Amino acid sequence: MHQLGSLFRHQLRLGLRLPADIRQEFLQESVRKNDFSMRIICAIIFAVEIFNLVRVVFLSRSGLGTWNNRFYFAMYCVLLGVAAVWLALRRTLQRAPVCVQWGAQYTVTVLILVWHIGLNAYDLYRDPAAGTTVLTTALLALAMFIQLPPWCSVVQFAASYLLFRAVMAPLLDAGSRLNLTITFVVSLTVSLALAYHTTVALRQNKQIMEINTKLQELVQRDPLTGLLNKTTVECWADQVLQGLGQTGRIGGLALFLVDLDKFKQVNDRYGHPCGDHVLVETAEAMRCVFPDAAGLGRIGGDEFAVLYDRPMTVAQAVALGQRLVEQLGTVAWQGQPLGVRCSVGVCICTRPNYSYQQLYTETDQMLYRAKETGRGRCCVRQLVPAGQRQCEEGLV
Ligand code: GH3
Ligand code: MG
Repeated sequence: MHQLGSLFRHQLRLGLRLPADIRQEFLQESVRKNDFSMRIICAIIFAVEIFNLVRVVFLSRSGLGTWNNRFYFAMYCVLLGVAAVWLALRRTLQRAPVCVQWGAQYTVTVLILVWHIGLNAYDLYRDPAAGTTVLTTALLALAMFIQLPPWCSVVQFAASYLLFRAVMAPLLDAGSRLNLTITFVVSLTVSLALAYHTTVALRQNKQIMEINTKLQELVQRDPLTGLLNKTTVECWADQVLQGLGQTGRIGGLALFLVDLDKFKQVNDRYGHPCGDHVLVETAEAMRCVFPDAAGLGRIGGDEFAVLYDRPMTVAQAVALGQRLVEQLGTVAWQGQPLGVRCSVGVCICTRPNYSYQQLYTETDQMLYRAKETGRGRCCVRQLVPAGQRQCEEGLV
């Protein structure tokens, strides 16, 4: 029995607690929804309370000549004031942190609720047959239109209910008490259900976004090395080249093509697992040598691409190519150095209106030259705007 009780309390706590991972999103969503609801509530307050003021001042026989009418007049003015202040401040509040916005909204809703409790209490003191319509309407409206974290709903509705029942006990008949209790239970249930559905929706949104991110990773990446795949490199390069086309956005770019030398022999001599290991190590070496590249990709079996969204000098490109060749020299398999080498072709482009295919063809020619002239080399071509001198270099 005791265990059952503690299990129930545990479940209740879980149900009422806002999950920490979506607390911020919940507040943001509440502020967005509540802002809309509160504008409607304020419009209703304006319409109803202006009508009430006219009724008290002009349509009642005694006008503001009695304390009773003066009290009602003051109450209507207070509610109009709260609504007016809220409408005046809401735009300024939108620039405040989300918790401040939420706090302000919550304060206004509590004030509106307290106002209804006060008015209903006064109605009852005047006429015990007046019933609890004013308060029950306010409870239901707030439950339906204002989204609160579960604990706030419990505190707000329970406090209003208990306070009203305690203070008004001598004036409430059995029917009014029952009516108020049912309204309290319904309001609390509606409010908790609203919070629960929002929590579920936010959780699902978060999961969908996480799955989307993972899917995007899978679609964009080469599963063996974790580098970008061929299609993504092409898209990336086209985007960077568009930036070069729009004057001033980027000053140029550099494309490196890297192809392992005699890689088939590694596979033939040591087997495919060893070949795969070399490919993974090559990717690692590239991350190390080109840490500031805009994109690193595997675009073929043993062919890799490096994209820089800035120009560089021929000497810098050659130095990077040579560093990669040296780094690959350290790759070993089962403690045995493999003597892996690669050839590198580079194209540094500051000429606008180049497509990726054109740039790739130029760079591939440099890679071919590096292969033809002995492998383990880096060959660089510079594509400069028409009228400037084009520079081509092949270096060991
Ligand atoms: P070259 O110096 O002319 O480039 O000679 P190469 O032997 O490297 O020739 P090529 O670049 O044409 O060979 C690529 C080889 O890469 C062919 C294929 O067996 C191997 N390969 C392609 N994909 C994979 C892979 O995912 N894993 C392994 N282990 N090998 C692969
Ligand atoms: Mg090769």
